Amino acid sequence: MSVATISHPVQVKVLGEDLEVPVKGGRLVSYANLDYAASAPCLEPVSAAVAAALPAYSSVHRGAGYASQLTTARYEQARHTVRAFVGARTDDAVIFTRNTTDATNLLARCLPEGTTAVVFDTEHHASLLPWPQAVRLAPPAFPGEAVRQADEALAAIEGPKLLVVTAASNVTGELWPIAALAHIAHRHGARILVDAAQLVPHRRLNLTALDLDYVAFSGHKLYAPFGAGVLVGRRDWLSEGEPYLKGGGAVKAVADAVEWHEDPEPRHEAGTPNVLGAIALAAACDALTATGWTALVREEERLVSRLREGLAAIEGVHELSLWGPDHPRVGIVSFVVDGYTAREVAEALSGEYGIGVRDGKFCAHPFVRHLLGATEHDGGCEDGTTSAVRASIGIGSNEEHIDRLIGALRDLAARR
Ligand code: PLP
Repeated sequence: MSVATISHPVQVKVLGEDLEVPVKGGRLVSYANLDYAASAPCLEPVSAAVAAALPAYSSVHRGAGYASQLTTARYEQARHTVRAFVGARTDDAVIFTRNTTDATNLLARCLPEGTTAVVFDTEHHASLLPWPQAVRLAPPAFPGEAVRQADEALAAIEGPKLLVVTAASNVTGELWPIAALAHIAHRHGARILVDAAQLVPHRRLNLTALDLDYVAFSGHKLYAPFGAGVLVGRRDWLSEGEPYLKGGGAVKAVADAVEWHEDPEPRHEAGTPNVLGAIALAAACDALTATGWTALVREEERLVSRLREGLAAIEGVHELSLWGPDHPRVGIVSFVVDGYTAREVAEALSGEYGIGVRDGKFCAHPFVRHLLGATEHDGGCEDGTTSAVRASIGIGSNEEHIDRLIGALRDLAARR
């Protein structure tokens, strides 16, 4: 009996796949968007969900009118969808925020008095900077060292403590050992916050199975453009923390004294929320789940391998990596090109080849500095600082995009 090959095509589509952009000489070429890690393009079902919500909307939790009731129902359904998407515990709070940065800052404001955060220098600034009191750990040389460093740091801290870690690096795409780090955190009576901004567009996350206390991520990196962000996690700190924004919706009663809601959802969501953002975010969660992680991961891994093999074959192009070429990663690859600044490479890719990438330090200055020190490449910035080029992929990326980037870099390297 022959065994049929099971294929898992990615069915869902993004908007703008046929976008054409001008390049040198006034030609129009199809846009090769390799900048998903900055903001991923909008999925068709996300656009449809937002369009469906537009004809009748009003502010949530405020009115008895049909539009208000409908909008409230959609907003609360979005919360429910996000809860399921991250595998949250039934009693976890799901708070809509503006983005990941807003979510980490919200948690930072709710930490019990005297809490020390433990953060790696590899973090995005959104997870590196908000903490009133922090111990910073040097980039670990291998995943087990990350666990050992966290173990030692947490053991030395008295009082409440929070370990903060990014699940997938926005610089190298490398996956971090979050289950082992959660285990260590809990052994020391600490909690763990996982910055999942770059994980959730690429991999399934299950907060309960991983035993995480908090996760944060952004809609606009999850194919829900400039939508909402979210903070999911344990209620107690969030119920006790000072309301993040003070105003309508967060209060139960205002007389001479103010009585704030204890439930984190209204307590930290004062004002009219970004309902369309929440609807978009939830629609993206549903679309990814319906598409299936097997198909998504398989397609991404195929394209990432093609990209990394292509880069490795070009003399003078160096991929940045903390834990070496074999460590698992999502569809994010950063690199430098000998003889060029990162900005020169990014501008040439855009202006001559119609390829969109990001250049810079990716809001992870200490990490990029560390990585470029390791490659002995200074990124060539005139201001003496370090920079790299980042290519990142997702749904809608294809072989032609990858091959165009590799061909362009080969041209640039040969022109040097
Ligand atoms: N964390 C990581 C890992 C990121 O990549 C980013 C954005 O690049 C952020 C946090 C911040 O996301 P936002 O700008 O949506 O707040």
